[in-house]
Amino acid sequence: MTDMPIRAVIAPVTPLQQNCTIVWCAKTKKAAVIDPGGEVPRLVKALADQGLTLEKIWITHGHMDHAGGAAELKRVTGVPIEGPHKDDQFWIDRIQESGEMYGMPEARIFTPDRWLEDGDVVTLGETQFEVLHCPGHTPGHVVFFHRETKFAQVGDVLFQGSIGRTDFPLGNHQDLLDAITGKLWPLGDDVRFVPGHGAMSSFGAERRSNPFVSDRAIAASKSADYTAPKNTSPG
Ligand SMILES: [Zn+2]
Ligand SMILES: [Zn+2]
Repeated sequence: MTDMPIRAVIAPVTPLQQNCTIVWCAKTKKAAVIDPGGEVPRLVKALADQGLTLEKIWITHGHMDHAGGAAELKRVTGVPIEGPHKDDQFWIDRIQESGEMYGMPEARIFTPDRWLEDGDVVTLGETQFEVLHCPGHTPGHVVFFHRETKFAQVGDVLFQGSIGRTDFPLGNHQDLLDAITGKLWPLGDDVRFVPGHGAMSSFGAERRSNPFVSDRAIAASKSADYTAPKNTSPG
């Protein structure tokens, strides 16, 4: 694995054990923190321990457990916040409120330095990630994809064995299914992904066995007497 252009470590944060990921360009040691939900001092220490220079803060969506520490991480390091898509503004506006609810009073509202759109490219050192707009869990949810290494950070779009909840304001179950099958699956069965919560998996494994979005489940969902399995996912 020594020739890999990027490296990543997962650092679960917040009481919701959200998979914050530190990803970096192996050549330049420039790093991005994806979804710093909280525990900013720990993240700053992890960056220092790896000898990394933080260059970007990337946000998949506006939920507190993913974005609650972004403002503080920017304050401490001075680096820009990129993402999510602007349709998640109303979630970012609620971060402080949800932070108090979950016992994280340090969670702060922010304005991203750059809103992201489907098809955007974000750079990190000498490498780059593609941005896919995948609404459904939240309307402005984005996914970060590194094509060379077939690596994706998908936030709360897809989990090992489940998908994101869609019972929040402006959630939409069909939009989520369309994003997963129409945008993620075409990237390839061999894409490995970090979900917002829980273990890593691959798109191929989920197409085989995910009760919500396996090829078989999607085919069944088109029949008249279909009822979706109950979604008890954490995000
Ligand atoms: Zn989450
Ligand atoms: Zn979420």
